[in-house]
Amino acid sequence: MSHDSSRIGTMCIHAGQRPDPTTGAVMPPIYTSSTYAQESPGVHKGFEYSRSHNPTRYALERMVARLEGSAITEEQDASFGGFAFASGLASIGTALELLNAGDHLVAMDDLYGGTNRLFSKVRERSQGLKVSYVDLSDASRLEHAVTDKTRMVWVETPSNPTLKIADLRAIAKIARAKNPKIILACDNTFASPVNQRPLEHGFDLVMHSSTKYLGGHSDVVGGLLATNNAELAARLRFLQNAIGSVMGPFDAYLTLRGIKTLALRMERHNESSLRIAQWLESHKAVERVVHPFLPSHPHHEVAKRQMSGGGGMITIYLKDGLKSARPMLERVRIFALAESLGGVESLIEHPAIMTHASVPPDQRKTLGISDGMVRLSVGVEDCDDLLEDLEQALR
Ligand SMILES: *Cc1c(COP(=O)(O)O)cnc(C)c1O
Repeated sequence: MSHDSSRIGTMCIHAGQRPDPTTGAVMPPIYTSSTYAQESPGVHKGFEYSRSHNPTRYALERMVARLEGSAITEEQDASFGGFAFASGLASIGTALELLNAGDHLVAMDDLYGGTNRLFSKVRERSQGLKVSYVDLSDASRLEHAVTDKTRMVWVETPSNPTLKIADLRAIAKIARAKNPKIILACDNTFASPVNQRPLEHGFDLVMHSSTKYLGGHSDVVGGLLATNNAELAARLRFLQNAIGSVMGPFDAYLTLRGIKTLALRMERHNESSLRIAQWLESHKAVERVVHPFLPSHPHHEVAKRQMSGGGGMITIYLKDGLKSARPMLERVRIFALAESLGGVESLIEHPAIMTHASVPPDQRKTLGISDGMVRLSVGVEDCDDLLEDLEQALR
């Protein structure tokens, strides 16, 4: 408990953790019990039923809440304002239940495909949500997008797959001036709390697909929400239990295990991806390379200010479109042609055909998700091997 405000590398191992009270086990046991014995009706140790309370899930939730900079105490909320769900989308679905039918939401125009689908194909119909998709890499656009019905702003930065950067501080300032009650939410999946902590920039809610960097080994699906606002934590605690799309204890354990090496992994992801991005920028088959820490990135200054590392993602545009993208994607040997990202192994994919096929074609066009676009998730393998692999695939 004394490590909750240490440096990030120490926090990834100790934040929010304590030895198991019954055995002293240093790592949290996987508590599979669905129910807990009571001494007398209503008299228990704080655990009644596993959807509502689970010690293994708490250990993960407390860790992520502290990594994101939440200072919520155990008295205010049992898991410090962190909440774990069955998937990233389940966590977004629960966050949307903070809104009422008919509310207005301003969302970044470039979103994870599944988030876009949940907003536009599900919640606009079932919850009557009104969603405006705005390019919030220019924060001033928020000024005109917010109406008196706006109750939430949903930002993804870096965004997927175009790696746009939104200035979190500027967005918070504009939104607060319009209406201090608007919930400011950031999908922090691409950056991870090692590289960026949105709560520190004035946001209320952070979301993670822990399937990606937090888990880090492509072997577990999950989602997390974290807040530094005790009132919001109370509402989320109610919703997590009322909706019930919780993360199971095995998955919570695996995700927490992954987080122990998060700082180490991010160091390598940051370093290798920047080196590869620089190399790709000088390759003749490549038209354009997007990486937040390349000086050529249009929002490089903002990225440098609000992130401590550029992350492991690179987006490239190949000169000959699908004609050169397809053979490259077929010829890679170390990079696996697969959806998802953030694992120790390097992945490569084609957003227009794969991850972003659910985004309507006209929206894809506006966003620049073209046939020549290829997305790389740079893993933690030896960077020289990754460079050689890309070189032979592009040749
Ligand atoms: C993968 C992803 C999600 C969805 O998470 P799941 O765990 O797949 O449900 C949301 N946002 C981003 C940025 C993602 O990469």
